[in-house]
Amino acid sequence: MTSADNLTCLSCGQLNRVPVAKLGSGPKCAICGHPLVSGGVSELDVQVHNKASLKDGLPIVIDYWAPWCGPCRTMAPEFAKAAVTLKTKARFAKIDTQEHPELSQKLGIRGIPLLILYSNGRELARLSGARPAQDIAAFVRQNIKA
Ligand code: ZN
Repeated sequence: MTSADNLTCLSCGQLNRVPVAKLGSGPKCAICGHPLVSGGVSELDVQVHNKASLKDGLPIVIDYWAPWCGPCRTMAPEFAKAAVTLKTKARFAKIDTQEHPELSQKLGIRGIPLLILYSNGRELARLSGARPAQDIAAFVRQNIKA
């Protein structure tokens, strides 16, 4: 394991290097001051999405959703609960596939909600369909071995 992780600021897109030992003590972006590890769910744009999925050392799980998708809205609070549970193990984010259809095409997404887990520029796993918080947390833990 490396001593520091690359973390893309999910607010401004700046790449930060954070010592692993500091992940739990509220690291902030050097440029904009946004918390880097918040236990919340960040809304991404395509630029930040691409950077985080390619560069981040700390695993990131992204919820591909759309406002018209009922199951996506049902799952949102469950996803948020899982984010709190796994605060220092993985970051949670979401992106609106209606706003960014080119992303669905690029990633071959046929149905939503879909979760994709990334770490160090690699896609580790996908989980499709609306799931309860414990399933989401189990899916992440299993694939990052945390
Ligand atoms: Zn920032």
